[in-house]
Amino acid sequence: MSVQVAAPAVELKELSGPMEKGCEAGAVPHPSPGASCSAAEREAATAAERPPPGAVKVPQASAMKRSDPHYPQHRHRDGGVGVGGGSADGGAAAEALVSPDGTVSEAPRTVKKIQFADQKQEFNKRPTKIGRRSLSRSISQSSTDSYSSAASYTDSSDDETSPRDKQQKNSKGSSDFCVKNIKQAEFGRREIEIAEQEMPALMALRKRAQGEKPLAGAKIVGCTHITAQTAVLMETLGALGAQCRWAACNIYSTLNEVAAALAESGFPVFAWKGESEDDFWWCIDRCVNVEGWQPNMILDDGGDLTHWIYKKYPNMFKKIKGIVEESVTGVHRLYQLSKAGKLCVPAMNVNDSVTKQKFDNLYCCRESILDGLKRTTDMMFGGKQVVVCGYGEVGKGCCAALKAMGSIVYVTEIDPICALQACMDGFRLVKLNEVIRQVDIVITCTGNKNVVTREHLDRMKNSCIVCNMGHSNTEIDVASLRTPELTWERVRSQVDHVIWPDGKRIVLLAEGRLLNLSCSTVPTFVLSITATTQALALIELYNAPEGRYKQDVYLLPKKMDEYVASLHLPTFDAHLTELTDEQAKYLGLNKNGPFKPNYYRY
Ligand code: NAD
Repeated sequence: MSVQVAAPAVELKELSGPMEKGCEAGAVPHPSPGASCSAAEREAATAAERPPPGAVKVPQASAMKRSDPHYPQHRHRDGGVGVGGGSADGGAAAEALVSPDGTVSEAPRTVKKIQFADQKQEFNKRPTKIGRRSLSRSISQSSTDSYSSAASYTDSSDDETSPRDKQQKNSKGSSDFCVKNIKQAEFGRREIEIAEQEMPALMALRKRAQGEKPLAGAKIVGCTHITAQTAVLMETLGALGAQCRWAACNIYSTLNEVAAALAESGFPVFAWKGESEDDFWWCIDRCVNVEGWQPNMILDDGGDLTHWIYKKYPNMFKKIKGIVEESVTGVHRLYQLSKAGKLCVPAMNVNDSVTKQKFDNLYCCRESILDGLKRTTDMMFGGKQVVVCGYGEVGKGCCAALKAMGSIVYVTEIDPICALQACMDGFRLVKLNEVIRQVDIVITCTGNKNVVTREHLDRMKNSCIVCNMGHSNTEIDVASLRTPELTWERVRSQVDHVIWPDGKRIVLLAEGRLLNLSCSTVPTFVLSITATTQALALIELYNAPEGRYKQDVYLLPKKMDEYVASLHLPTFDAHLTELTDEQAKYLGLNKNGPFKPNYYRY
C-alpha cells in the first residue's frame, strides 16, 4: 500500500489563496546567528504563551509574534557586525594562493573587504587573473545553511577566458545569460535529471501546478548556490508560473554545466565557478538591473542580493512583495534591518523552519561528515579516537556517524543540557585539553570562535586531522598557524599539512572552513526539503493578501513545515497514521494539523 499523505496540511490550491486563520507565520526573533535556534532561546521566547501543562493548543499567529528581538552581535559570518556585505572570511588569515600545478603560496595578509558600488565599485576595472584564482576567499561561503555539490566533471581549467569576455548564445538565440560555457548544457541537464530523482516534493509541486499557477506574474530574482538541486527548484518555480533571473551566492559553488543547462533552457543565469569579487557583484547586478524587467520577489541565500538592492536600487522595493532568505547570515541581516526599522517588505526566515533546521543540520551532517573526511584523507574510522566539539544538531549528526563506524568519540560542550544528552547517548564528555594529545581527529561544530587554539594545535599528536563543520572558519584558529616557524604543504586540494620544526605535522582540512561544503557532496534529499520550503515561502508571500504580512521577519507556519515533510514521505513508502475524530478531539487538534504547538522541540 502506498502512503496516505494525510490530507496535505496546505493544498497547493490553498497556497494561492489566503492561509487558514491561525496558520499565519509568526514574526519571531532570529535567535542566534551562526548557530541553530537554540532550545533555550525558543523556550524563553515562547514561555509566555505556553499553555498549562497537559493542555495542547494550536498556536495563533498573534501569539507567535514578537516585537523586540534579541540580536546577538558577535557571530556575524564576516567576523564583524552589521548589514554590510563582506567576505565570509572577513579578514581572517592570510590567503593561500594555489597555482594550477597545485602548489601553494601565501598571499599577503591584507584584510580585503568587499566594496559596494556606492563605495567604489567599478565594473569596468577587471580583476587580474590571480585575483580570480584566489581559492581561499568565498564571498558567501558562510551560507552554510545551504549546500552545493563539490563535483563538476566538465570543468575545463584550461579555458581561462572570463565568461564576461565571451559572446555566447543559447540554441534559441538568446544571450541573456553569462555562464562559463553554454556547450556544457547537455551534461548539466543530466545532472539536473539525476537530482530530480531525489527531489520528490518539488516534482510533486510541479505536477499539482499543472493547471494552476500560483506564481503566475511572479518575477523572482535569486541568489543561491547554482547546483543541480537549485536548478530543480528554479524549474519548479518556472512551472508554477514565475519568471526567474539568477546569480550565485558563492564564487566557487556554481556547477558550470548546470548553469549552462539553465541558460540553454531560457533562464537568465549569471554565474560560473571561480568568479572574482568583481564578477560576483557584476552577476548580481545583471540579474537586477534589466531594462523592462523588475523583480517582485527575492530569494536570497546570504543576504548579498538583498543588500545590493537596498544599496543600489532601493526604489525597487516599492514593487517587491517579499524576501525569502535561507541562511543564518542573511536572516541575521534581515533582523538587523527590521530592528533598525529599515526593512521595507515582509521577509520569510526559511532558515529557522523546522524542516530546514532539523534536516540540514542533523541529517545532512550525519551523512556528509564521513564523506568529507574520506575524500580528503582516505582514512579508516574504526577504532580511531575523535573529539567532536559541540553537541548541537551538527555535533549530534557527526557523532552518530562516527560512532556507527566504530570510532571512539569524545564530546566537548559548554551547555549542560547538550552535555547530558551526549553522556546519555554514550559519549565521553571531556574538556578538549584532556584528550588533545591522544585524538586522531578533531571536529568543531559549535558556531563559536577559537574553540581550537594554537595551544591545542601545538599539543596535537603527529598526523592529527583537524576540521570544522561549523558555520564559519572562526572555530579553529588557523591564523595562528601562519607563522614563520611552521611550514605549510598543500598535499591535495583542500588538504594542508602544517609542519612543526620537530617534524610533527597536522592535517588541516579546507583551511578550517566547512568540511562538507568544501570537500564533499551533501544529500540531494535534504536539499529537496529546504528547496520545497523555499518554494512554499515564495508562494505564500506572493499570494498573501495586502496587509497580512507587515515589514517584518516571519517564520513559515508549522502547517507548511508539516506539508513539506508529508510531501517527502512517499519516498520511504511510509504509512502515516491519521487521527480519528475522537483522538483529534481528545488532543484538541485539527485532524489536518498543525500537530504540534509552536514551542514543540522535535
Ligand atoms: P547548535 O547551537 O545546535 O549547536 C552548537 C553547540 O555548540 C551548542 O550545543 C553549544 O552549546 C556548543 N558550543 C558552543 N561553544 C562551544 C565551545 N566553546 N565548546 C564546546 N561546545 C560549544 O548549532 P548546530 O545546529 O549544531 O550548528 C553548529 C554550527 O554548524 C553552526 O555554525 C551552524 O551554522 C553550522 N551548520 C553546519 C552545517 C553543515 O553542513 N556543516 C549544517 C547546518 C549548520
